[in-house]
Amino acid sequence: MTDHAAISFWLETSGDDLTQRAPLDGSVDVDVAILGAGLTGLWTAWYLRRRDPSLQILVVEREIAGFGASGRNGAWCAPDLNITMTRLAQLHGEDAARRMQQATYDAVDETGRACREAGIDAGFHKGGEITVARGPHGVPALEAAQVEYEHFGFGDRYRLVDAAALDERIRIAGAVRGLVSEDAAVVHPGRLVRGLARAVERAGVRIVEGTQVTDFRPRDEQGRATLVTPRGDVRAPVIVLAGEAYLTELRQLHRQLVPLWSLIVLTEPLADGQWAEIGWANREVVASTRLSIDYLSRTADGRILFGGRGAPYRLGSPIRAAYDHHDPTHARLRSFVREWFPAIADIRFTHAWGGPLGMPRDWHPAVAFDPATGIATARGYVGHGVSATNLAGRTLTDLITGEHSALTELPIVNHRSRNWEIEPFRWLGVRYAQWALGRLDDSAARTGRPPSGRSLAERIAAH
Ligand SMILES: Cc1cc2nc3c(=O)[nH]c(=O)nc-3n(C[C@H](O)[C@H](O)[C@H](O)COP(=O)(O)OP(=O)(O)OC[C@H]3O[C@@H](n4cnc5c(N)ncnc54)[C@H](O)[C@@H]3O)c2cc1C
Repeated sequence: MTDHAAISFWLETSGDDLTQRAPLDGSVDVDVAILGAGLTGLWTAWYLRRRDPSLQILVVEREIAGFGASGRNGAWCAPDLNITMTRLAQLHGEDAARRMQQATYDAVDETGRACREAGIDAGFHKGGEITVARGPHGVPALEAAQVEYEHFGFGDRYRLVDAAALDERIRIAGAVRGLVSEDAAVVHPGRLVRGLARAVERAGVRIVEGTQVTDFRPRDEQGRATLVTPRGDVRAPVIVLAGEAYLTELRQLHRQLVPLWSLIVLTEPLADGQWAEIGWANREVVASTRLSIDYLSRTADGRILFGGRGAPYRLGSPIRAAYDHHDPTHARLRSFVREWFPAIADIRFTHAWGGPLGMPRDWHPAVAFDPATGIATARGYVGHGVSATNLAGRTLTDLITGEHSALTELPIVNHRSRNWEIEPFRWLGVRYAQWALGRLDDSAARTGRPPSGRSLAERIAAH
């Protein structure tokens, strides 16, 4: 049996014994059947039940609630999606891009509000967000981001600060400038997802665990769609596919996403004197301008979490527990902590874990419902799902209950990404982009010159 507490520090410290709930015990008919007890599935159940307390909702989870990315992430509950406003404007128009961005700010606040309402002790703390340029080569990216926010009317939410002003908030070796906003929060992901699971149960939703969905079918002549499991069929007018990266394991969705690993290392709690050297009293979420992605947060018990990509994509998109650990990437993340914070160069690391992100071909998240088939889904958040899943849950609730709203007009609604290439072309493309972005970062750090923005890998990543 999987030792669920060993999956991440967050599940280990979720304040929950992680005992698996009972599995499905035979075929059943309900009003809404949800695949996946991550944040997408659980927020959808929460808001649907709030809208209509008479709805019979069943959540079907293969492992335990929070097993996936929702119980493993970097604790950023931040606005912004994986896709830029500029790209959204190209695809859907400027107004749609602006409404989308506003919805991401609202999703952060709604996550905090809903946790309070549901009695979830998620450690929600709105400390803000800082992106740093670690060297002059990072400055153009910060300036470009500020110009983009200004262009879309959000400039007053962001401030470009110099090294001295940055130092007042957090002292990072080599940081020359920062882009600061107050709009992001940090959470305890384990307490959030496990608390939400208990809250939806209190609200009358049934969760079965240890039950794998092996297939799904659209509405039949009686108007019932089906989640197929070895323990029986779950039939409902509406099924919600909320399995993010793991959806690629279902035959019909195999090429809709690629599973891409994000990995994390965590230090022991720092001593007060060490925190005095670093600052970071407000617990902002922090990242740098590296194309190959890094993200940091400070836990409530005084540890530094450092996450990043880098674990290689595997041919055929398999998902295996063994991929949650990739020694070279974990070692690099540890060396980044020492580089960023020389004052704690001899700090001990207590945890290392990882998990798969769901990456759509066009980097565009989607929240969709087709009344003809009865199939709903929300997926493709890549590394930006903690607040976006809350937005997705509310949006799916409006779509499923037929409520026309500002949410159902968002550009992520009913977006269709094209399939990924067949193998080995998928492997070649993804591995090339992973390799090239890393090389561009290393070369920028070495030469002090920013990436040109015109390389193939950057154009791929510019979504
Ligand atoms: C290491 C890491 C760091 C991240 N950091 C951040 C961050 O700091 N901020 C941020 O915003 N986002 C971050 N993300 C992304 C974010 O965590 C996800 O986008 C979000 O949690 C997705 O939630 P979800 O419910 O859609 O999917 P998941 O949380 O993955 O849940 C899917 C659930 O479905 C279940 N399931 C899958 N297939 C089946 C099946 N066939 N049958 C039954 N059950 C099934 C799984 O067991 C799982 O519990 C990170 C992700 C990772 C992996």
